[in-house]
Amino acid sequence: MFRTFAYAAGLFGLLLSAPAQAASEYLTPFPAHHVVGNIYFVGSKGQANYLITTPQGNILVNSGLEANVPMIKESIQKLGFKYSDTKILVISHAHFDHDAGAAQVVKDTGAKYDVMDSDVGVVESGGKTDFNYGAKGGENLYPPVKVDRVLHDGDTVSLGGTVLTAHKTPGHTKGCTTWTLKVNDGGKTLNVVIVGSPNVNPGYVLVDNKLYPGIAQDYEKTFQVLKSLPVDVFLGAHGAYYGMEDKYAKLKPGSPNPFIDPAGYKAYVANREEAFRKELAKQQAAAKQ
Ligand SMILES: [Zn+2]
Repeated sequence: MFRTFAYAAGLFGLLLSAPAQAASEYLTPFPAHHVVGNIYFVGSKGQANYLITTPQGNILVNSGLEANVPMIKESIQKLGFKYSDTKILVISHAHFDHDAGAAQVVKDTGAKYDVMDSDVGVVESGGKTDFNYGAKGGENLYPPVKVDRVLHDGDTVSLGGTVLTAHKTPGHTKGCTTWTLKVNDGGKTLNVVIVGSPNVNPGYVLVDNKLYPGIAQDYEKTFQVLKSLPVDVFLGAHGAYYGMEDKYAKLKPGSPNPFIDPAGYKAYVANREEAFRKELAKQQAAAKQ
């Protein structure tokens, strides 16, 4: 879970994680829209859910909260697709704002649920085994779901000619997943990334974390991976990562697709890496005192 308010033009990356505030935006409807190729946004103002359509059914990326599921269903229908054609469900990472609705989606559609190895236990315990939020209870817990396929770093999820690659980008959760795929758009092949989350949430312990030894090294790995990916189209687990609202406002027939933003992607990853390094240095200094 993660929130960004860009409340002044050009201000980039004031980070908040106020669940009450966030929750209202998680459930604020946002127009369903075509992103690029066979990818559609079916999320809310604060939640990024994507429908990837294929001739053999569709892939849903992130279920959102339980209360997001009816909103996702409505967005899919508005775009002219069928919710019941959802064949595979994948997630950005095992936090309630991306996976609490998974049980409902699986029950409604019979979709197969494919999850990165190190997030499987969290998903199947309904959030209870999450290193940071499991013991906090409340909204962090949700109906457990049995995972159909355990993914490992580099595995692919394929349907109807579309291939998603699961890159393990751990730290934010142990099995946090950044998805990449290629799409055809206007005769061009474009590299798409859906960032899992490079964010260090408030309260995350990076030094001597007994419940997640190696968390800092995992973030290091994640930044190496994110910096190595070829990216044309920049998407993420929340619209705020990639400036979804501003880009949506720029969508116009005949104009360049605003979601094609390799420079924005590079700037975002650099900004998040800097934030991680600052927090790590602060915690290392505090640990020495
Ligand atoms: Zn999260």
